[in-house]
Amino acid sequence: MNLDRPLLMIPGPIELHPDVVTAYSIAAPGHLSAPVMQAFKNTLRLMREVWEVDETYQPFVVPGSGTLAMDAIAASLVSPGDVMVQVDTGYFSHRMAEILRRHGAEVVVVAGAPLAPPTLDEVGDALSRTGATALFATHVDTSTGLRTDPEALASLAQRFGALSVFDGVCATAAERLPMQKWGVDAYLTGSQKALGMPPGLALWVCSPAALKRRQQRASPPPMSLDWDQWLPIMHAYEEGRPAYFATPATNLMLAAEVALQHIADDELAGATGIDARCARHARAATALRKAWAALDLTPLSKPDALGDTLSALRYPDGVSAELTKSCAKYGAVVAGGLLPSHRGEYFRVGHMGYSVTRPDYLVRTVCAIAKALSEHGITVDEPAAVAAVQAGLAEA
Ligand code: PMP
Repeated sequence: MNLDRPLLMIPGPIELHPDVVTAYSIAAPGHLSAPVMQAFKNTLRLMREVWEVDETYQPFVVPGSGTLAMDAIAASLVSPGDVMVQVDTGYFSHRMAEILRRHGAEVVVVAGAPLAPPTLDEVGDALSRTGATALFATHVDTSTGLRTDPEALASLAQRFGALSVFDGVCATAAERLPMQKWGVDAYLTGSQKALGMPPGLALWVCSPAALKRRQQRASPPPMSLDWDQWLPIMHAYEEGRPAYFATPATNLMLAAEVALQHIADDELAGATGIDARCARHARAATALRKAWAALDLTPLSKPDALGDTLSALRYPDGVSAELTKSCAKYGAVVAGGLLPSHRGEYFRVGHMGYSVTRPDYLVRTVCAIAKALSEHGITVDEPAAVAAVQAGLAEA
């Protein structure tokens, strides 16, 4: 497909597969119509595949953005006065901490060195010191590009008797997270990033222990955020029975089914499904890092703790945030910095979902950035950057 507009290469929303666009671009169907019932049922089944859990874990899909998923998790897991440990990775971990506070938690934030996640020892120390009932972390923080290690953090939380909860908004379906195997209790996300759907759905999966924690709350949480309100609805759709609590985003459910099926059907170098999809993101990220190096662009954050869904890159000396406008002019919309303390120092490029299945999109993005840098007075070797990304993508 040749686009007559710049590519949307921000860290969400993202470019969508044409089949996904076709699926939702219809007159709004009723929430109990056969196509929506079928799409809902399949979406919940496919979520179990993508999150890698069995029937003892519960997927939820409700209208809303990633922030609503964060609020719903907090509303159901926090009882006023609970102590929660939050891993500091940047802007979105700060948001989670604030949400937890607003639900009455006492939040202990564990920060590491600047622009690096804290060490496991630092997190373990906070868990043991505070007797926290849950550990919260952002899988990939979209403000810094930092990635945490959910496997190690979940096992740490288990050792200290705490639940582990991860914000996967910028990671789900791109970064490995076999939820059940790693002992993660809640993993939340939004629809508009690596899942490959338009914005508007809040999705999360809970372990049996997390569901039980909701039952231990003395008073029910706000109604639209309460898992217990949504649970019978999820059960009904899974069983193909009509049910109503609050109107689902019907067109988005049609998009969700198609997008998740694409992930389940993906194949790459002998891997299938979610493994193939994660490998595809890793390959794209590695290839792009080679292109950034060829353009002398350096990451904002600690290089050995970076996620595969976006690149947070420092502006070269003498280049301002005006660069992002030039990138759009040359064919790719990228995003400015988001972390308040460093906002004007860097820009962000999203590489997730459909775009990582399209080498031409990634090359076009590299070219747009190279041309924009050149317009801003930086000497760049665009052919070398293109060769670097192409060579990286050719590797299996
Ligand atoms: N967490 C992370 C890691 C995010 O990237 C975002 C969105 N950029 C959010 C939470 C909030 O999601 P939303 O904007 O869909 O509410």
